[in-house]
Amino acid sequence: MNILLTGSSGQLGQELLPRLQALGTVTCVDQVARDDDKVTQRHDLSDLNRVEIFLNRTQPELIVNAAAYTAVDRAETESEAALRINAELPGCLARWTARNDALLLHYSTDYVFSGEAREPYREDARTGPLNLYGESKLAGERAITASGCRHLVLRTSWVYSGHGNNFVLTMLRLARERPSLSIVSDQTGCPTWARNLARVSSSLLEQVGRQPAAFRHWGIWHYCDNGVVSWFDFAVAIFETALEAGLLNRLPDMTAVPTEAFPQAATRPLYSVLDTSAIRETFGIEPASLQASLRACIGEMNHHDEQ
Ligand code: NDP
Repeated sequence: MNILLTGSSGQLGQELLPRLQALGTVTCVDQVARDDDKVTQRHDLSDLNRVEIFLNRTQPELIVNAAAYTAVDRAETESEAALRINAELPGCLARWTARNDALLLHYSTDYVFSGEAREPYREDARTGPLNLYGESKLAGERAITASGCRHLVLRTSWVYSGHGNNFVLTMLRLARERPSLSIVSDQTGCPTWARNLARVSSSLLEQVGRQPAAFRHWGIWHYCDNGVVSWFDFAVAIFETALEAGLLNRLPDMTAVPTEAFPQAATRPLYSVLDTSAIRETFGIEPASLQASLRACIGEMNHHDEQ
């Protein structure tokens, strides 16, 4: 299978690449060329005309779009850039996919929801993003659906990995720099290890299999790891795990604070837990445990530090 992967330098993209390579020949599209392999093409994906030309030249049978504008606060002032990558690019990829009878795997976010619910959000729950990032991702979902292409969209939440910009790495850095930390305790969600999301992605693609015409489960699905926490609870779990792994030598003093105590440009939903029962029942995918995933991710960081 001829596969195109966007965003291969990102948290998810790095985890996807080896799994996709097991399924076919992968071409990566990134802004910056990678030194470590020869399959990367350099493109700024906000140039949609060039994206189209590139697609026509490479003729992928499967497009995996892990590229996104993920700077949630910056998106408030850089709306044009966020909309281009999160809404217009998916639309462009989806229309090409529809015209060329290809497949599209795309990712979206818990931030399409308003956070007013008190129980986990199902795939058909009413959306109502509170910030520009969420709006742009929702517009991307809608453009894909409108294209009529064969697509899978995985909505996920609070993604972390051993590299990139994420809460785990930020907390570990701050714990080394400062004796005490204030952490928001009234936003609730499900942290998800990028490795697990990549594993789920390849499992879905295997189920699409060699006969996509017979596949009946196109559409939007929710996947997040199993563990509902606040940012404060998550930070406690990170510090305890890092202490156990020898990555920290003491726990910082922690104070739980409300969202208002930590002003940010973008408003976040207070509750953005995704209901994963549909993906479990339809595809037999069991969400990974938060604690085991965090331990494995932090364990790998420790291993890299030792090398
Ligand atoms: P990252 O920010 O780690 O990676 C984004 C990727 O997109 C990078 O490779 C980046 O390349 C690439 N990219 C951005 N703009 C361009 C551009 N103009 N041209 C080419 N490449 C570009 O994102 P994640 O891996 O964390 O996110 C994966 C998916 O999951 C996204 O759809 C995201 O919306 C979704 N998601 C993420 C969450 C999170 O907490 N991170 C939560 C919920 C959903 P470069 O580094 O060169 O800019």
